[in-house]
Amino acid sequence: MRLMSYVHPERGEGVGVVRDETVVPLETPTGAGPVPPGRSPMRSLIVACGGDPTRLALAGDDRAIAIGDVTVLPPVPDPSKIVAAPVNYFDHKSEMNVSTHIDGLGVFLKAPSSLVGAGGTVRLPYTDRRFDQEGELAFVIGRTARNVTADDASGYIFGYTCLLDITMRGGEDRSTRKSFDTFTPTGPWLVTRDEVGTVDDLRLTCEVNGTTRQDADLADLIWGVPALLEYVSSVMTLQPGDIVSTGTPAGVGEIRDGDRIGVTITRVGTLEVGVDAVGAVACPTKGAGRGPVPPAELTPTRNRPAAPVT
Ligand code: MN
Repeated sequence: MRLMSYVHPERGEGVGVVRDETVVPLETPTGAGPVPPGRSPMRSLIVACGGDPTRLALAGDDRAIAIGDVTVLPPVPDPSKIVAAPVNYFDHKSEMNVSTHIDGLGVFLKAPSSLVGAGGTVRLPYTDRRFDQEGELAFVIGRTARNVTADDASGYIFGYTCLLDITMRGGEDRSTRKSFDTFTPTGPWLVTRDEVGTVDDLRLTCEVNGTTRQDADLADLIWGVPALLEYVSSVMTLQPGDIVSTGTPAGVGEIRDGDRIGVTITRVGTLEVGVDAVGAVACPTKGAGRGPVPPAELTPTRNRPAAPVT
């Protein structure tokens, strides 16, 4: 199922299954009890079904809403945390000219307030710094996960979504450079784990203004999804709805005012956002010129045709 979080002008916030150009609302599974206040419908549904997407109950098709009538939200608008992987593809390690990868770095956090949904806008805050796109596959946690082994990982994953880890280059801490408001586009929906199946045959492409910059097979992750979940859950307890992003392949590059970014992942979907620099000011911190910076010339990609979304 493709699950979309949305706001409808009359019916309010909800979650539904995407079918063609409509979204069919989901109902809370029977016996799940009341929704705690302040929790998004998506997070409530994940908790209520125990992280098992096959337990979700669909409302009747007569309740279907035209997608054109809703505002699309990030699939999980309110995760307790967003965990992300640094340097998790060897070709990205090469282009950044760094000596370490994820097994020497661990993971980092992005602020949940940096989320923005499909069709939204990445807002560049500074006039004098470089900002890059990083297309990534992210997974969403289905049930509380602590010290999960790689063998057991699949049962803790609720589904997958496209994610852009927008990044300011420089020497500031990653949590600063990657947590500006709007720096984590996700969506356009969450695809449940049963529909995605194995991750190893997925392909990710990322385009900026129609030019392919990134083109990678998820099988090339240094730490694949099970190993990443094992590691992250050994560090911190993951809650239903938490987002873990798997890292970006080679082909990161600068984004500027007016750009359009698109990430496509097989069986997951295509996430598109715009970029603007309205109101940008001079950067108050002095990290420019420090830290790893990829070359100005884009890393050549394999230049295959765009991945089909099936
Ligand atoms: Mn990244």
